[in-house]
Amino acid sequence: MDAYYINEETIGIALLHRLQHLKHLEDTLLGAENKNRNKETDVENIRRETVKSREAFAIHHRELRRLLSDKPVNGKWIRAFDLDRRNKYPVHGRTAAWWNDRKKCAETGGCFGRLCGCCEKSLREYLDPENGMTAKLYGHCSLECGCCIRSRGCYVPGKRLPSTTLGKHVRS
Ligand SMILES: [Zn+2]
Ligand SMILES: [Zn+2]
Ligand SMILES: [Zn+2]
Repeated sequence: MDAYYINEETIGIALLHRLQHLKHLEDTLLGAENKNRNKETDVENIRRETVKSREAFAIHHRELRRLLSDKPVNGKWIRAFDLDRRNKYPVHGRTAAWWNDRKKCAETGGCFGRLCGCCEKSLREYLDPENGMTAKLYGHCSLECGCCIRSRGCYVPGKRLPSTTLGKHVRS
């Protein structure tokens, strides 16, 4: 389940990035200073993509749940995996897995190599049943990270994500 789980986790982060990017595009389009003549069609496209991505995220959650309930409880690798994900740094609450991937993010053109600080912002929040506190989910850049797309100046959709018309119809 190891590689498959990490793959599924990566898809989840990329979908959250895509949703954030869509929100940014929608806000930009709806901004008063935006003079795009195809505004309405573009906004419609974005909303359609948003619904599609939310559905894909729900499917991702279902798959993640299945993987976690099938997860073996013992074994050296499993213990390392759990430690990486459960051990959180006390001040910022990010996982060891996040900490370990900082360099990889910067080296592959992600936000960690710039001063924008995107990777330090949480992608999602939920209530942690173990302590009743708000838990935050952090992730490093994927091909869907809006800030990276703007910095690169082009958009190449992630292959493992649902197909999208973003980029073809949307001018940000
Ligand atoms: Zn950034
Ligand atoms: Zn980024
Ligand atoms: Zn990063």
